[in-house]
Amino acid sequence: MNLEAIRNDFPILKTQCAGRDVVYFDNAATTQKPLPVLQAAFEYSTHSNGNPHRGAHIFAIAASEAYDGSKETVRRFLNARSTREIIYTRNTTESLNLVARSYGETHLKQGDKILITIAEHHSDLVTWQRVAHKTGAALEYIYVDKETGHFLPEDLKKIDDPAVKIFAFAEVSNVLGIHFDPKPLIERAHAHGAVVVLDGAQSAPHRKVDVQDLDCDFFAFSGHKMCAADGIGVLYGREELLNDMEPFLLGGDMIDLVEEQETRFAELPAKFEAGTQYVEGAVSLEAAIRYVEAIGFDAIREQEQKLVRRTLEGMQQIPHIRIIGPKDPAEKEGLVAFTVKDVHPHDVAQILSAEGICIRTGHHCAEPLHRYLGINASCRASFYFYNTEEEVDYFLEKLKGVRPMMGYGD
Ligand code: PMP
Repeated sequence: MNLEAIRNDFPILKTQCAGRDVVYFDNAATTQKPLPVLQAAFEYSTHSNGNPHRGAHIFAIAASEAYDGSKETVRRFLNARSTREIIYTRNTTESLNLVARSYGETHLKQGDKILITIAEHHSDLVTWQRVAHKTGAALEYIYVDKETGHFLPEDLKKIDDPAVKIFAFAEVSNVLGIHFDPKPLIERAHAHGAVVVLDGAQSAPHRKVDVQDLDCDFFAFSGHKMCAADGIGVLYGREELLNDMEPFLLGGDMIDLVEEQETRFAELPAKFEAGTQYVEGAVSLEAAIRYVEAIGFDAIREQEQKLVRRTLEGMQQIPHIRIIGPKDPAEKEGLVAFTVKDVHPHDVAQILSAEGICIRTGHHCAEPLHRYLGINASCRASFYFYNTEEEVDYFLEKLKGVRPMMGYGD
């Protein structure tokens, strides 16, 4: 991997901040966009812009081709059986809401259980809370070991409960950084017919996803976490389940026939894509997939592992840093959440920001997890393939200075 050439594709990384190139370590929140992706979107808007699936003129046709063509790339990226199983949404959040509204609310009832984990992002937690409230189903949690972040083995038995009709979890936790191997968990849930929803927001940008191999029922991810535009996301759904669901948005392009009192919905995937779609975003996502694939997930993993290893080793040398979740780099998927004793995470982030370093602070939309771990908030450094070991060293050096700056001895 030619890191220098890659970084040249990201002019934003050369932004001057505190007398040096900015250090962007907030990739789990959103990634930066390389020139080829921006150019693909620009090219579309300057040569092909139209409303897809409407009209017979050259731009409507060009827009339809761009939109439908990008779907085929996403299908291939996820190894879905058909583009009918690929729904465009705004982001992971909307994808998960779609499943909760269109599947959860209509297929669950009192006596059923929804199983999620305490590590879920709010988009995979608040959504299921509401399904539980509306249907009378119970919402249950798998808890994690507070030190290692692993699922508690006794809690995993909850998956086997035949009352569990939905099992939803993030393949990679955006706080613990762990990749929870989904295949055995999916098999267990399927053994009694539960539907499995995977939140792939933090996995799809970093590792190969094969929905057929995983055998998951739904898989959600966001383009903006893998170099594409904001506002384009994907929901993969198993075709027979999508066919059995009511659309949650109604309007143009999702219909086959409309009469005064009744409507027949369009075939998949249009049934779930009401209104004018974000074609420029779809083009951007296609270009981003091609960009990421050209680098390759092996190279991405190798680079992220180097960065995580250096970060964890460095942090363990700094007194009063608490690393959240596992400390073994092999168990971390490109992100490290941590706290600095007696310093509020917002202060840590502000001190680092003054040095040109961007990290995330807060509860990272995982408030129940933070409460469970006994902390209000944490800091998070998260990497992508364009980050360097030199940046990690600079970050560690400045992190070392945080407590002294706040008046502590070390
Ligand atoms: N799930 C996880 C694990 C995430 O990290 C995020 C983003 N922080 C989301 C879901 C939601 O993604 P988006 O904001 O793009 O909808």
